Amino acid sequence: MPRTTARFDTLAAARGWEADSRNGGSPAPAPEPMDIERIFGSRTFGLAEMRSRLPKQVYKAIIRTVEHGEPLDPSVADVVALAMKEWALENGASHYTHWFQPLTGSTAEKHDSFITPNRGGGAVAEFNGKELIQGEPDASSFPSGGLRATFEARGYTAWDPTSPAFIVETRAGCYLSIPTAFASWTGDALDTKIPLLRSMSALDAQARRALKLFGNTEGRVTATCGPEQEFFLIDQEFFYRRPDLMTTGRTLFGAKPPRGQELEDHYFGSIPDRVLAFMMEVERELYKLGVPVKTRHNEVAPGQFEMAPIYENANLAADHQQLMMITLRKVAPRYGLAALLHEKPFAGVNGSGKHLNWSLGTESQNLLEPGDTPHSNMQFVFFCTAVLRAVERHQDLLRSAVAFAGNDHRLGANEAPPAIISVFLGDQLTDVFEQIESTGSATSSKAEGLLGLGSPVLPHLPQAAGDRNRTSPFAFTGNKFEFRALGSSQSVSWPATVLNTIMAEALDELTTALEAELAGGKVKFEEALRTLVATEIRRVKHIVFNGDGYSDEWHQEAERRGLLNLRTSLDALEQMHQEKNLALFEKYGILSHRELESRHEIALDQYFKTVNIEGETTADIAGTMIMPAAVRYLNDLVAAADRTRSLGVETRGLTRTVQIVNELVDELRDGLDALVAQNAELGGEDVHSKAFHVRDNVIPAMGRVRAVADKLEKVVPDDYWPLPTYRDMLFVK
Ligand code: ADP
Ligand code: MG
Repeated sequence: MPRTTARFDTLAAARGWEADSRNGGSPAPAPEPMDIERIFGSRTFGLAEMRSRLPKQVYKAIIRTVEHGEPLDPSVADVVALAMKEWALENGASHYTHWFQPLTGSTAEKHDSFITPNRGGGAVAEFNGKELIQGEPDASSFPSGGLRATFEARGYTAWDPTSPAFIVETRAGCYLSIPTAFASWTGDALDTKIPLLRSMSALDAQARRALKLFGNTEGRVTATCGPEQEFFLIDQEFFYRRPDLMTTGRTLFGAKPPRGQELEDHYFGSIPDRVLAFMMEVERELYKLGVPVKTRHNEVAPGQFEMAPIYENANLAADHQQLMMITLRKVAPRYGLAALLHEKPFAGVNGSGKHLNWSLGTESQNLLEPGDTPHSNMQFVFFCTAVLRAVERHQDLLRSAVAFAGNDHRLGANEAPPAIISVFLGDQLTDVFEQIESTGSATSSKAEGLLGLGSPVLPHLPQAAGDRNRTSPFAFTGNKFEFRALGSSQSVSWPATVLNTIMAEALDELTTALEAELAGGKVKFEEALRTLVATEIRRVKHIVFNGDGYSDEWHQEAERRGLLNLRTSLDALEQMHQEKNLALFEKYGILSHRELESRHEIALDQYFKTVNIEGETTADIAGTMIMPAAVRYLNDLVAAADRTRSLGVETRGLTRTVQIVNELVDELRDGLDALVAQNAELGGEDVHSKAFHVRDNVIPAMGRVRAVADKLEKVVPDDYWPLPTYRDMLFVK
């Protein structure tokens, strides 16, 4: 289909989006009012629902597990299952599923009907405690990294009572979705939830030990996460006409458009009507599922947007983050849109990340929140010091937690944090730490003043002592740290698991040192604490960097400081399973050696597969779409030149154009042949050498093909070009 027609169709569709084509073009009914208080959580089997439906004793047992982390009393399962089923049926569900998060990075589900036939030829809906607690999906097709031989295909899903079950609504019906963990029949974790829950317990235990020294015995400490989600929206029709977007999530071709993000007019601009309607429907769906979406805005690149929820405990936040991604993808087509969650759907404009805001706290206190002034709060300083210690020691782990093929297009590309892990503290906190380091205590603190805006009608604003620094991979932002290196398509579970684990270790070690110091009874707590913190800061302060992370000077400076710079995912993944890390995860009961090794292998395998598919898709599109378009054009040019010459007219311009296109066709042929050869080569048997082969040979070969194809895009006529261009796709209206 010639492109001009397609563009016209799409624009027409875009203009008429509110006239819902599914009901014959009549305007969509006015939406029901967004009554947040009524809608929020209405499709979840949360605590409120349980309280009203469960006997008191059963409800109390659930509370002990959900709110205090105690083991679940198995005898309550049948009662909960019955209530859950009643609730699900009332909400129109016919099926249920154990919803889990295998190591593919996304989610999985297998549906079972509640139906049980009865003797009279009818059926009743049944669901018992065993079905609630345990599922047994055939696990053989999920990645296990060698943990499970295919003949031992059994895997188990186990109910996570701490994350509420929810109803998924579709046009045709509803089903009950029960968040579960997923393990092999030998008990090895095969998912992202199990290590996350384990890391939350480890962090809780170590943080409580530390708090005890401060006389704080308030109880459970929870890791909290608030992920910010960036994404692109394009017309769905374009999506279906780009085989690269459909199979790889990103454009493998596309010349730079005359206008990209140069005008910088998109960021925080007014949200286009259709996009806003889409976002509101996403919010409505997420509210029903109890996901507290809070913000929505345009992002930097044209066609790029962001939505973010309010933080929750890490496990819930991770589940909700998956629901956010699922909902974005699901709702977009209702508005003629496709949501692209890939880290780099378009070359040359900003990619999409996911910021993971992370903290830890008790019921009443955020442990990374300073007191009135930071120096007045040694407990805060202690926890911050632990963060510095953790990040300094485990730069490699943090880097590898965000290592996968898609993220290689972003990290270190001057639009996202560099691949070097450092911590931004801001001036005020850095100043406090410097005082403690040199004198053992902070006697002054850069006060937060008032910011006058130079107009009597405008209020004075409190001035935050720390500016924002968008170039830091790990930034203190007032009461939490923001891990900014995550990719937009990524599950937050593993990065959160790593943060919890390395923090548990740092708290453990600092607390142990402090306890030892105090054991003699000679030094006072404050004094021991100050000495410890001062020594520690001196040791790890090279991890702190408040400057411009995009600058070349930082790369040199970081090298002088001895910080790691693991440029690509494979460099980072190499570090993931080194001795230090195996020992760490084992010590805190997060992952056994086997489990961590298997994750390393799966990560390599996914890297290989991702790039391999991209290589094959590039070859396909170049060979079957771009080459034919170029040749067709060449053919027309040659025919025109022949005919013109036969009239005795000079054909300088035509001849020159023939030469240009012909040369590009030559180049494309050569590049394509080279790529096909590299695609055919696997680089060896084991996953490690395959991954390195595609990184070192397939990626450059793809780049070469793309470079020629993008030149061709600029000379081949619009109506011959087989793919929607960046110009078409990037400016969603
Ligand atoms: P800003 O960063 O603009 O000051 P907020 O303080 O509201 O805005 O936080 C931005 C993000 O950080 C939000 O996603 C929010 O949920 C998250 N966040 C805030 N506090 C915490 C916390 N204690 N733990 C984890 N995430 C948090
Ligand atoms: Mg953002």
